[in-house]
Amino acid sequence: MHDVLKKVALVTGANKGIGFEIARQLGEAGFAVFLGARNAGLGEEAAAKLRTQGLDARYIELDLTRLDTIETAAAAIKASSGQLDVLVNNAAIVDAADGPPSSVAAGVVRRVLETNLFGTLAVTQAMLPLLRAAPAARIVNLSSGLGSLAMNADPTWEFAAFKLLGYNTSKAAVNMLTAQLAYELRDTAIKVNAVSPGYVATDMNAHQGILTVAEGAAEPLRLALLPPNGPTGGFFSAEGPYPW
Ligand code: NDP
Repeated sequence: MHDVLKKVALVTGANKGIGFEIARQLGEAGFAVFLGARNAGLGEEAAAKLRTQGLDARYIELDLTRLDTIETAAAAIKASSGQLDVLVNNAAIVDAADGPPSSVAAGVVRRVLETNLFGTLAVTQAMLPLLRAAPAARIVNLSSGLGSLAMNADPTWEFAAFKLLGYNTSKAAVNMLTAQLAYELRDTAIKVNAVSPGYVATDMNAHQGILTVAEGAAEPLRLALLPPNGPTGGFFSAEGPYPW
C-alpha cells in the first residue's frame, strides 16, 4: 500500500551508530524510514526501538556485499512506497588488517572496497529508479575526512597518521561516485552530496571519537533535507565545504 502523504527514506547500516541516529531523526522529521541492516535481529531491534518512540520505522534486509538482498530491498520499497525520497549510504566497514600502502595486503584493500565502494554503488544503482520516481530526491553518501586526497597529502593534518589504504581509498572512491553521479543527474531535481561526519564515538573506532552520534548525524541530516536551491555534487562537514 502506498502512503502518498509520507516521504520515504532508506538508511543503510542503520542498526547502530551514526546510521541509527540519522534514521531516528528522519523519522522525527516525518519520514517513513527503512532501516537497512545485514543482521535481521539487530535490524528488527533497531526498528522496534524507533517504533516505540512513535516513529514510522521498518527493518529491511540489506547487506552491501549481497546483491540479492539489495535487489529484494529495492523491490520491497517499490511495492510498499513506489518511490524513495532520501537514500543515505551510511553502511561501511573498517578492517582491522587495513594499513599503509607499504605493507597492507591487497586482499584487505579489496575486501574494504567490496563493501564501502562496490556495495554503495550497487545500492545506489538499485535505488535510482525509485529516487527518480520521487519529486526531488536526496542522496547522501557517508564519506570521511580520511577519503580526502587533499588532507591525505598534508603531513601536518591532525589525522595524517591514519593511513589505512583500503578505508581511505574507499572513501575517496565514494567521493568520486558522488561527484560523477551529481553530474549525471544535474538536470534532475535529485541532489547528491558526500559528507564527513567528523570523528564520532561509535563501534567503528571503539568509541574513541570525540563527537556524539547526534553531532555526527547533523550534517548528513542537513544534506538529506536540502531545499531546492541547495547544493549538489559537494563534499561537506559540519564546518562547511570540505576539501576533496
Ligand atoms: P558503525 O560501525 O557504528 O556502523 C556501521 C554500520 O554499517 C553498522 O550498522 C554495520 O552493520 C553496517 N555495515 C557494515 N558492513 C555492512 C554490510 N556489508 N552491509 C550492510 N551493513 C553493513 O560505524 P559508524 O556509525 O561510525 O559509521 C557510519 C558511517 O560514517 C560509515 O560510512 C563510516 O565510514 C562513516 N564515518 C564514521 C566516522 C566516525 O568517526 N565514526 C568518521 C568518518 C566517517 P553491523 O552492525 O552488522 O556490523
